[in-house]
Amino acid sequence: MTDDFERAVAQVVDSQACSGCGLCTRLDSSLTMQLDSNGYLRPRFDGDSQAIPNATAIFRRGCPGVVVRGLAPPKDATVHPLLGAHVGLWNAWATDAALRHAGSSGGALTAIHTWLLDTGRAARVTGAAADPAAPRRTVPVTITSRAQALRAAGSRYAPVAALDSADVLLSASAVCGKPCEISALRQTAGDLIDGEAPLMLSFFCAGTPSQSGTDALLADLGVDLSDTVHELRYRGNGWPGRFTARIDDDVVSADYDESWGRRLGPTTQWRCKVCVDGVGESADIVSADSWESDERGYPVFTEGEGRSALLARTPRGRQAILDAHAAGVIALEPLEVSQLAQAQPLQTNRRRFLSARLLGSRLAGRRPPAYPGFRLLRLSLGAPRTALRTLRGTFARVRRERGEREAH
Ligand SMILES: Cc1cc2nc3c(=O)[nH]c(=O)nc-3n(C[C@H](O)[C@H](O)[C@H](O)COP(=O)(O)OP(=O)(O)OC[C@H]3O[C@@H](n4cnc5c(N)ncnc54)[C@H](O)[C@@H]3O)c2cc1C
Ligand code: SF4
Repeated sequence: MTDDFERAVAQVVDSQACSGCGLCTRLDSSLTMQLDSNGYLRPRFDGDSQAIPNATAIFRRGCPGVVVRGLAPPKDATVHPLLGAHVGLWNAWATDAALRHAGSSGGALTAIHTWLLDTGRAARVTGAAADPAAPRRTVPVTITSRAQALRAAGSRYAPVAALDSADVLLSASAVCGKPCEISALRQTAGDLIDGEAPLMLSFFCAGTPSQSGTDALLADLGVDLSDTVHELRYRGNGWPGRFTARIDDDVVSADYDESWGRRLGPTTQWRCKVCVDGVGESADIVSADSWESDERGYPVFTEGEGRSALLARTPRGRQAILDAHAAGVIALEPLEVSQLAQAQPLQTNRRRFLSARLLGSRLAGRRPPAYPGFRLLRLSLGAPRTALRTLRGTFARVRRERGEREAH
């Protein structure tokens, strides 16, 4: 039984399908999440396995390195083939100027977090923030006050396992995490949580960069590994805001193109390149950047007042958004799904050609996760030449990477 569980985890990690979500650490107290030599968080056994009963079955149902399931849309949902189902869609921002400024885009998630806490709808919210002891690193945090919510506001483009926190399984919680983490929690909440599942909040996610991306960016800005970083933000304090690090009295920074575009984005782990759900289909509420587009249809990242696109995926999520709006916590204005799709080319292209990537990967000998319920093949068939090119490219890349690994 225990051997089965250890084997199941090892298989996911060895096939590079691990997203680093941390679910497995809830199933076995001897597992901890640790950075591997490539700068990604992976589960590692620290002593003999202490798996809970049924750990293997729960793992196979929830681990996003094994499976991510497409869910049946709610009855009154609008279904977009590339962005999933929603029962409400708006541009949104925090009406509290400090939260809006600190947030990654419009601070909509942070505003909802504080409102959940203020109204007693949640006793705690789990999110992610800079490690207070070592702000180069990112850790899961439990938010119980506005001040803590403010500290956790903003995207962290680095490894963090949101589910590597016992608090995600407490009742009366809300959980904010990446789409893979929310999928894992949605699939296993019935097994692991007594009482009602937490309200699940997520955001569009292009993927988790390596921790080495952060260190390389800091080095570009003249910060050595031996320097003590006192504060580190990836964005926010504006929209999109700047990557900013404080070292004693010195502050260094880089704009969004330089930080995410050139240094962090390119180090994204392989699992995320073959991710079916960067748009949080398993969540109740999802936030995204509601970028303006230029005349060619590409998103523009000029600084401005933050604006999130807010999607309600479930009636429960919609009710929470409408109640927060009625309480004056967030501002809402209508948003067309076609406009959101235009602002999110990475998300739409990744899903459109995912079946080609998955096949290319399998042919090259690397097993990706299973994605039942997403009906991917018909999306790629709409542009067969690009799909074929993608398949060939993935095949060659995976073969090359496997060869390099075997040579080490
Ligand atoms: C790895 C990553 C990839 C992203 N890719 C996209 C993308 O493709 N398209 C897009 O539109 N936006 C992307 N974003 C940005 C994010 O989706 C938007 O900024 C979103 O609109 C949230 O903005 P907000 O102001 O409402 O959230 P905020 O009010 O700033 O709240 C963000 C919340 O997310 C939590 N959080 C931050 N980083 C992480 C993390 N790494 N893991 C778990 N929880 C975290 C924080 O605790 C905070 O509570 C990405 C963010 C991350 C971290
Ligand atoms: S994807 Fe999550 S549950 Fe699966 S092995 Fe990795 S950390 Fe564990």
